[in-house]
Amino acid sequence: MNLKELYQEIILDHGKNPRNLRKTDNFNKDAKGYNPLCGDKVHIYLKLNENKKIEDISFEGQGCAISMASASIMTSLVKGKEEKEAKEIIEDFLEMIKEKENLNTKLLEEDEKTKLMCLSGVKQYPMRVKCATLSWHTLTSALDKSQNEINIESKEI
Ligand code: ZN
Repeated sequence: MNLKELYQEIILDHGKNPRNLRKTDNFNKDAKGYNPLCGDKVHIYLKLNENKKIEDISFEGQGCAISMASASIMTSLVKGKEEKEAKEIIEDFLEMIKEKENLNTKLLEEDEKTKLMCLSGVKQYPMRVKCATLSWHTLTSALDKSQNEINIESKEI
């Protein structure tokens, strides 16, 4: 199996069987995101504890395999992280999708980075980039509570 096949396998797996697809009990942060270009919708729920650690994170939504796989992978990687660590991972991921070859964060293990790199294939397809970044922008919005509902069309990536 080459790298491209491995990446496709992981996306298919997460797209078909999304992790954390449910609503967190007693969530204290949430936000919705919408990608009108593809019709993807996501609602992210999280529970931040008193130490600003993400005790639980989940999502509800529907959309293409890329958007669902991205939300699934993202939620599984940031669960248990502190808020500032989650923000570093978000920033690193968005920079990778935008222009960088690789991920730089030291907060993720190599196998975790591999899961994120699966989504790097969208770079060749500008229309799909927003499918991959939707849940990430929505998580930022939930953490910052800047907007309750975001429309990804207004985002650069
Ligand atoms: Zn999509």
